[in-house]
Amino acid sequence: MTNFVTITDVGPRDGLQNQATILSPSQRTDIIKGLAAAGVSHIEVGSFVSPKAVPAMAGASDIYQQLAADTQSKAQYQSLIPNAKGYELAKQAGAKSVMMVVCATETMNQKNVRMSIDDGLTQTKAMIAQGIEDNINVICCIAVAWQCPFEGKTDAKQVIKMATELSEAGAQDIIIADTIGAATPAAVADLMGQLAAVVPVEKLACHFHDTRAMGVANVYAALTVGIRKFDASLGGLGGCPFAPGATGNVATEDVVMMLHQMGYETGIDLEKLMQVSELAGDMLNQQIGGRAHVWRKLQLEKNQPLV
Ligand SMILES: [Zn+2]
Repeated sequence: MTNFVTITDVGPRDGLQNQATILSPSQRTDIIKGLAAAGVSHIEVGSFVSPKAVPAMAGASDIYQQLAADTQSKAQYQSLIPNAKGYELAKQAGAKSVMMVVCATETMNQKNVRMSIDDGLTQTKAMIAQGIEDNINVICCIAVAWQCPFEGKTDAKQVIKMATELSEAGAQDIIIADTIGAATPAAVADLMGQLAAVVPVEKLACHFHDTRAMGVANVYAALTVGIRKFDASLGGLGGCPFAPGATGNVATEDVVMMLHQMGYETGIDLEKLMQVSELAGDMLNQQIGGRAHVWRKLQLEKNQPLV
């Protein structure tokens, strides 16, 4: 089992889509470049959704244009797309990787994309086929995989069925998302263990929100059953405009700190990452989340190393 853990920082999308302060495309690009310079290999940079529905994500094409000029970066950028129209916009902007969400409960899928789960799966499979033709990675996210704000506990069989179908259709990666941060470590180990038995484990990723302070524990639980890909958000930024009760993602620096101290590798420079989180906090004029920052400040005051 590999010791390397791949982190996708979803902060520039999941973290910024629902903030009181709306950042400009160039401010968001500065955060993305900072993350790439800190060694984050995968970054979710925006979404190609209607700017009327999610004003904070307007200007995704501008971000791609600015990133294309940054030839130093080796990071892979991905964007959320809701449908075929979003796919076309992402393709025109030069996106090489796109992410589509299908919710594991009917009510949430209706709220999110106004269609049934079956229609959502059909649409997503069509995008996967199109992506294979266009050489664009299509990543699939199964949202509310443990609990739904409208329907309560999610049926694991439904998540397993969806993940199996999407994997067989050729999805690059399948992200299993605890959209409202309601999963426990035991439930995570259970579902991810079952999924790893039927879907190639290297395709599976987890996406946790830290609503009930179990984000890092849930990452650990998924690690124990072989998961080596995680979404996280710098400074614990996050929330979903369509999921009541969703708060920030698990903080990337908390996850990276735990992983490094347990002997895993991520390729990320923790100190540089923390500086980017502070930059984002300054731009948003808010205190950043996660726990690692408090510890970092104390270590710096004592002139102690960040290990
Ligand atoms: Zn999320």
